[in-house]
Amino acid sequence: MKRRVFHKNRDVRFKVEVFTNSKMKNVSVQNRINRIRYFLYLPYLCVMHNGSKSTLIKTKALELGFSLCGIAPVRKLKAEEKALKAYLANCYHGEMKYMANHFDKRLDPSLLVPGAKSMVLVLLNYFPRNLQQGSNAPKIAKYAYGTDYHYVIKDKLKALLRFINEHIAPANGRVFTDSAPVLERAWAVQAGLGWIGKNGLLINRQMGSFFLIGELIIDLELEYDEPYYDEHCGSCNQCLNACPTHALVEPYVLDARKCISYLTIELKAEIPETFRPMLSQRIFGCDICQDVCPWNRKVHPTSEPAFSPHPEMLQLYREAWMNLSKNAFNELFRKSALKRAGYQKIMQNISYLYEKC
Ligand code: SF4
Ligand code: SF4
Repeated sequence: MKRRVFHKNRDVRFKVEVFTNSKMKNVSVQNRINRIRYFLYLPYLCVMHNGSKSTLIKTKALELGFSLCGIAPVRKLKAEEKALKAYLANCYHGEMKYMANHFDKRLDPSLLVPGAKSMVLVLLNYFPRNLQQGSNAPKIAKYAYGTDYHYVIKDKLKALLRFINEHIAPANGRVFTDSAPVLERAWAVQAGLGWIGKNGLLINRQMGSFFLIGELIIDLELEYDEPYYDEHCGSCNQCLNACPTHALVEPYVLDARKCISYLTIELKAEIPETFRPMLSQRIFGCDICQDVCPWNRKVHPTSEPAFSPHPEMLQLYREAWMNLSKNAFNELFRKSALKRAGYQKIMQNISYLYEKC
């Protein structure tokens, strides 16, 4: 059942790309064949999905550039309550006090959006077409190469809400991405978009895990996807074994206080000395537990123009990073999530990498 639901999403995605992507020269031969195949499949899709409010929303979401969309009914997440309590009791959230706030809202979105009926979940692929050059260059997480995803995803979700109001039915709603007490990975599972891997991230069989999650909570009844009940990590433990700081304390459980993403972005104080030799060239975020994941082997680059990095950023080598002025930083990362950490924090992180040199 869940596979059928996923294929439905994927089919619509390709359908939209056939019509909207004018940069076919960047598309691989296999992708072109897939697109033609799905184009031929289109009449069947139109008959199968005709008239469904959810299908209209999903089609629009894909047209707006999202990679996938699923929809779940709003309800209280009972199964996640115990895990969240244990996580907070262990203080795995470190200084991120906001994670302990609004406990009930995290589990029940109707407390966040009064009258909420449906949760529209979207995924947006951010895997870069080109990676940072230079093996000794400080590295930033791939999601931060281009424009801050908070702006990109929220703008698209607001456009989706306008579309719903103009073309489907009047609806009140709010948009979120990593910006409110919403357990978005758990909700993405409820919307049939994938499973939560042992690295704690949402994984989709076709897309891997290099995507961002956004959600639109609305007071409109829709047709819903089946939750994704399977998990496909099996006996693999590559993410746990590869994590330099052993932040994955057991499968599915991240101690954020040890995670390089937390240490290089969220932590206001200096990074403890014990972790500095383990930073693995990272100065903003960390992708290691995703890079090693077998589900990311066939990942495709994003087609979202906003995620294209400043070309000079990819070419920065170690010395250029170390001598980066505040003006140059502001220019290179004008709209980037790096500005959330700030120039001082980034430069301090860089200094940790080379403090023994
Ligand atoms: S992001 Fe890096 S530090 Fe954090 S769990 Fe993954 S591999 Fe470990
Ligand atoms: S690396 Fe292996 S265990 Fe970790 S999330 Fe990927 S498949 Fe699951």
